Amino acid sequence: MISRLLFAFFYLSVAASGGYWLDGATGLWIGANGALLALLVRDYVRGDRLERWLRQGDPTLEISLSGYWAELVDRIRRGYKTRDQLTALHQHRLQEFLSAIQASPNGVLLLDEEGRIEWCNQTAAAHLGLHEQRDLGQHIVNLVRDPAFTSYVAQEDYNNEVIIEGRSHSLSQLLKLQVQLHPYGGNKKLLLTRDVTARAQADQMRRDFVANVSHEIRTPLTVLAGFVETLQSLPLSPEEQQKYLDLMAVQAHRMQGLVSDLLTLSQLEGSPPPPVTEAVDLKPLMAQVKADAIALSALQDDGAQPVHSLTFQLPERLHILGSQAEIHSAVSNLVTNAVRYTPVGGKIDVVWELGPEGQAHFSVKDNGVGIAAEHLPRLSERFYRVDRSRSRESGGTGLGLAIAKHIAQRHGGNFQIQSVLGEGSCFSMSFPSARVKMEAKAS
Ligand code: ADP
Repeated sequence: MISRLLFAFFYLSVAASGGYWLDGATGLWIGANGALLALLVRDYVRGDRLERWLRQGDPTLEISLSGYWAELVDRIRRGYKTRDQLTALHQHRLQEFLSAIQASPNGVLLLDEEGRIEWCNQTAAAHLGLHEQRDLGQHIVNLVRDPAFTSYVAQEDYNNEVIIEGRSHSLSQLLKLQVQLHPYGGNKKLLLTRDVTARAQADQMRRDFVANVSHEIRTPLTVLAGFVETLQSLPLSPEEQQKYLDLMAVQAHRMQGLVSDLLTLSQLEGSPPPPVTEAVDLKPLMAQVKADAIALSALQDDGAQPVHSLTFQLPERLHILGSQAEIHSAVSNLVTNAVRYTPVGGKIDVVWELGPEGQAHFSVKDNGVGIAAEHLPRLSERFYRVDRSRSRESGGTGLGLAIAKHIAQRHGGNFQIQSVLGEGSCFSMSFPSARVKMEAKAS
C-alpha cells in the first residue's frame, strides 16, 4: 500500500514538475490533474477487468494484472481455495454422516413442515415401499396408506410409536413395522421405522404355545375329572371301578408324556450345545431303541409278536460326539413315530451310515400312511399334527419331531423329512464329521 502511495506521489510530482517547467503555475495544475486522471482511468480499467473476472466465478482463469491488482487477484484466489477446501471437507463429513444413516438397520426419513419427504435412507424406502429419489417432495400420508399411520400423523401426539404393515416382497410373510415421528427444527419431523416382524412372530408363537399347552393339558384333565366324579357319585362294582381306573391311568400317562416332552424342549432351548467330549456308543443305544420298537409294534396286536417288519443297520464302532440322552431321545422319537404311523404289516428300515466325508447319516424309512406335501414345511413345529385324533390315540404329544429337529441342530446337523401321502415317509438326521468318531468303546 505504501509503495503504491509512493508511486502515485512520485508520478504526480513528476507530472506537476514537468507542467511547471513547461508552463509555470498553469502547467503545474494541468500536469497534476492530468496525472491524477491518468491514475484514475488506469485503476478503473483494472478494476473493471477484475470485476469481469470475478463474475465468471472461476479462479483458475487467467487475468493479466500487475502489481497491487495482481496481489489482489492472488488473495482472492487463495480465498477461493480455502472456501473450496472447506466445502469439500463439509461435503465429505455430510457423506460420511449419510453413509452412517444408510447403514442403519432402521429406516430414517426426514419430513419438511408440510409433511413432504426431504430425504430417506434405503431401509426406510424398502420398509415403506418408497422410491428414494422419485418420491422426494411427496406427502408421506399420500404414499403410506395404512389407516393406523394416517390417524397417528393426524393426532399430533408422537410420544408413542405405532405398528403398521410394511411393504413386504414376500406374500407369505407380512412385514410389521414400528413407526415413530420425532419433531425437530421447528415443525420438521424425523420418521423412524423398525422392522418388528420377528418380534411380532415370536409374540404370536408364545401366545400359540401357551394356548396349545393349555389345550393339551385341559383335555386329559377334563376326562380325569369326569372319571373321578363318576367314581365318587356312582355305586360301581370292583370290575367297573378297575376299568375306570385304567382309563384314568391312560390320561395321567398322557399328561406325564406331555410334561416330560415340554421339559425336554425347554431344556434343549435353554442350554448350550452338548460338548464333543462325550462319545455316544450307538450299539447299546440302538439295541434299546430296537427292543422298544419291537415291544411297541407288538402292542398294536396282542403283544406277542411285532406286527411290522423292522430292520436295523449300524456300522461297527460308530460313535456320535454329543449327548447320549439327546441322541437317544431323537432316534427313539423317529422310530416310535414310524411304528405308530405305519399300519400292521408295514415295513420300517432304520439305518445309520457313514457319508463320503465322514459324516453320519441316520434315517427311518417306513411305508406307512405318509404325509401330504402341504404339511411338510410345518411338520416339525411344536404341536403341529396332520391327524390330531390319530396322534392322540397313539399317545402322541405333537412335540416329538420338534425335539428331534432341535437335537440334530444342536449337534451341528440337520433334519429332513421326505414323504408321499399313502406311500410312506423317511425322516433323517445328518451329523457333521466333527461329531463322528469310530472307536471300539466309548472313551
Ligand atoms: P406326535 O406326537 O403327534 O406324533 P410328532 O411331532 O412326533 O408328534 O409328529 C408330528 C406329526 O407328524 C404327527 O402328528 C403325524 O401327523 C406326523 N408324523 C410323524 N411321523 C410320521 C410318520 N412316520 N408317518 C406319518 N406321519 C408322521
